Amino acid sequence: MEQKFPGFDSQNTPDGDSLTFLGTGGARFMIISQILASGGMWLNLSGTQILIDPGPGCIVQVTKRKLKPEKLSAIIVSHRHLDHSGDVNVMVEAMTQGGLRPRGKFFAPSDAFNNEPIIFSYLKNSVKSIEVLKEGLSYEVGNVSFSTPVRHIHPVETYGMVFKTPEYTLSYIADTHYFDGLLQHYSGDVLIINTVFMAPVISDGNPTLPVEHLSVPDAAYIISQLKPKVAILTHFGMNVWRAGPWEIAKAISQETGIRVIAARDGMRFDLSELHK
Ligand SMILES: [Zn+2]
Repeated sequence: MEQKFPGFDSQNTPDGDSLTFLGTGGARFMIISQILASGGMWLNLSGTQILIDPGPGCIVQVTKRKLKPEKLSAIIVSHRHLDHSGDVNVMVEAMTQGGLRPRGKFFAPSDAFNNEPIIFSYLKNSVKSIEVLKEGLSYEVGNVSFSTPVRHIHPVETYGMVFKTPEYTLSYIADTHYFDGLLQHYSGDVLIINTVFMAPVISDGNPTLPVEHLSVPDAAYIISQLKPKVAILTHFGMNVWRAGPWEIAKAISQETGIRVIAARDGMRFDLSELHK
């Protein structure tokens, strides 16, 4: 039987609806330097806890912030790139208490299960179910439903997500090149945008350049069109970090009249703030 210690968790276990940023760094150089952490996002919506994109160091961030992986109902991976999936296996072990207590769902696009699966085969039985993300489908996790409305433009199969609870809609635009069809899918109260570049990057024929990401002007345009109650920028590349994400957020806010926040490592955003 699980013992309860009144007040023991009150400081760190998110009680109300919230999202916690376990990292705000994006793309290769941020990840290998860990100037910013890369642990993904932890949602607590209507009492259901969900981990999104557990990149390298997720387990370190989760334990440091005294979150409880054994309370997770799902781990969702937007795409198989290392900065979104590096800690998948250790987080599955943490969610299932070393594999001893099978629980939770694991979601990822189909190419994450191909000849180089991001989840080890010996861990597949520790989760309650494995579900493949597909364009246009909806999924249930506890008290939350989410959809993956459109396939993104990115070198591997990638989806953003729209989470719905009785109270809120929360949209997450994961890695993608900007495209016109993007906007129509991601309206909501809260809009999270992975903002890797200061300006759009042109490949110039160099296939190793990671060009398929959103830039600051893309984020500003998306925010101006979708008009969420709050937009949160995250997943910063090195140049965005050097320019000061909070300055960028302030400028976009002034330009659009929308509240824009630059996420910080460890930042918890309480959705009750939307009513203020
Ligand atoms: Zn990526």
